[in-house]
Amino acid sequence: MKSAWVDRDAQTAVDRYAAAGVARDGFAQDLALRVYTTRLLGQDPKLVLHGGGNTSVKTRVIDLNGDETDVLCVKGSGWDMGTIEPPGLPAVRLDALKRLRERAALTDEDMVRLQRANLIDPAAPNPSVETLLHAFLPHKFVDHTHSTAVLSLTDQPDGEALCADVYGTRMGYLPYIMPGFALAKAAAEAFARDPKVEGLILHRHGIFTFGADARESYERMIEHVTLAEQRLARGRKAVFASAQMPQHVASRTQVAPIIRGACSLRDEKNEGAWKRFIVEFRTNDTILNFVNGAELARYSQAGVVTPDHTIRTKNWPLIVAAPEAGKVGDFKAAVAAAVESFVGKYRAYFAANNARVGGIKKSLDPMPRVVLVPGLGLYGLGRSLKDARVAADLAEAAIETITDAEATGRYQALDDANLFDMEYWSLEQAKLGATAERPLAGQIVAITGAGGTIGAATAKAFAAGGAEVALLDLDEDAAREKAKAIGGSAIGIGCDVTDAGSVCAAFDQVVQAFGGVDIVVSNAGAAWQGRIGEVDEAVLRESFELNFYGHQRVAQAATKIMLAQGTGGCLLFNVSKQAVNPGPNFGPYGLPKAATLLLVRQYALDYGAEGIRANAVNADRIRSGLLNDAFIAERSKARGLSEKDYMSGNLLQREVTAEDVAQAFLAQALALKTTADVTTVDGGNIAAALR
Ligand SMILES: [Zn+2]
Repeated sequence: MKSAWVDRDAQTAVDRYAAAGVARDGFAQDLALRVYTTRLLGQDPKLVLHGGGNTSVKTRVIDLNGDETDVLCVKGSGWDMGTIEPPGLPAVRLDALKRLRERAALTDEDMVRLQRANLIDPAAPNPSVETLLHAFLPHKFVDHTHSTAVLSLTDQPDGEALCADVYGTRMGYLPYIMPGFALAKAAAEAFARDPKVEGLILHRHGIFTFGADARESYERMIEHVTLAEQRLARGRKAVFASAQMPQHVASRTQVAPIIRGACSLRDEKNEGAWKRFIVEFRTNDTILNFVNGAELARYSQAGVVTPDHTIRTKNWPLIVAAPEAGKVGDFKAAVAAAVESFVGKYRAYFAANNARVGGIKKSLDPMPRVVLVPGLGLYGLGRSLKDARVAADLAEAAIETITDAEATGRYQALDDANLFDMEYWSLEQAKLGATAERPLAGQIVAITGAGGTIGAATAKAFAAGGAEVALLDLDEDAAREKAKAIGGSAIGIGCDVTDAGSVCAAFDQVVQAFGGVDIVVSNAGAAWQGRIGEVDEAVLRESFELNFYGHQRVAQAATKIMLAQGTGGCLLFNVSKQAVNPGPNFGPYGLPKAATLLLVRQYALDYGAEGIRANAVNADRIRSGLLNDAFIAERSKARGLSEKDYMSGNLLQREVTAEDVAQAFLAQALALKTTADVTTVDGGNIAAALR
């Protein structure tokens, strides 16, 4: 590992924050350099991932009273080292922190309160749970990472001896102690025993380095991690001997919905509701070498490589059988059994450890967050794509750590009791945030015709409801553009619903992106006109291709995935009011829409037992690409009305918008006891009212 320090970049950081008026004089320089090297560390996944690790600088600031005071600027909770900014390093009064070292004990709650009470800015984020460790060391700069190379050495039965061999007296050593006051005191004592050390190795946790300036502390981190890497490169044995794999394995898109479905939790309080996960797939040679190993069940189930992974990945991944191509049914049954045994193991672990701590903890959900699939790769699971990616990133880092440990010795993690204490530590759970989940969290929605007005408004409404959304449209650029406008993980995909191959390919992309599909809004459509007795049959057939078969192809592709998941689903269709109330010369549009209305009922009937619901929205006169200004002029003329009266010619005399239609789809998606429904969104039209 090479130092990424560049004098010019460091100076740029100093100039930038000084110009931004972050602070004056020495403080500006200290904080700017602290931000600079924190980012250098945070941007290397071999050092820290997703909020792991922390750094600090001891400096002086002017407090709110105008007095200059000594402070520790330390990474705040919720900030990521790779993207940190000065507000991510809240200043805490240093003397108040240092005085705590005299205490014999300090509860976590009191520690958090004291840290908050001594913040210079009362609105700042909570200082890191490792704040006291930083405060008790005398150095100006202190850096802490969970380097995979260092963990590969410490996470072994003879990790202490290995580290002593690599570092000698250059580093101090600590056995595993849970973060907090006790660890901070032990670290200070380890340093006091030999004040010449350049850092501390925390067994089965990570590494601290320190220095008089930002560069020294940072480059010591790089040097000591490099020493660990060099040790791991020596005398390696080949790992892992592969187990027997099927000649052909099923595809990742066949496997993902099965995994996703098996790892969903039925909501006991709300019949028909499931707690679902978004699924992120990863594979490469290192992952395959790991998951294909004959001893996978031993080395993958030993526990996490560093304890703060546990809230994101659980203590162990789920292992499933290799999915043989053509035997997807067998695979599905095997996955269900594996999940059941995983849940049983997790419940037993919780019960035993909760009893140990006096029965005060409430169990988290027992579902895995990482699934290892021999022959294929791994899946990360999360309630959003973002969380699924975090789980997958940590799983990849764990695979690297364990592979290197096994290549040079034998991987050994912390015991269950220590892992439980970390997983159920209130300060650790607080990192996940306490904001209420949105109603569609964990659900995947595909919307066709999403480049248009109604489709885009619908995608936006579902994304706001917490779902991951895929926008499908014949015009791929339009789909992408609308997805970009929604932001987050929304994706745009080109899809011609009149082509079965295109529909399958589009749903394959949805599964690749998110792992499955739960809700489909089949919205793509276009209008054809003609007096029915004289219209060219080709026109009628063209309209049926899009306005009937298009819906059928989309529903069929979605149903296949929903059945693989086994957690129900929801098919929503945009059925025009033409389906029940034909307009003059509008047969080519109304007839396939009428067939689609029956299609909705057929799906409701045929798949109700599997929990797949089918509903339609019967909208009328929405200003959109289909009902554009020219078309409005024509239709209003056909009805002998002014354009204004045509657009609000309903019982409520209100123009109906695309957002109104989107909200109707959303309501249908959330109504778990409603199927074969047609919701009318037309401002009131008795002639089109369903009977
Ligand atoms: Zn740590």
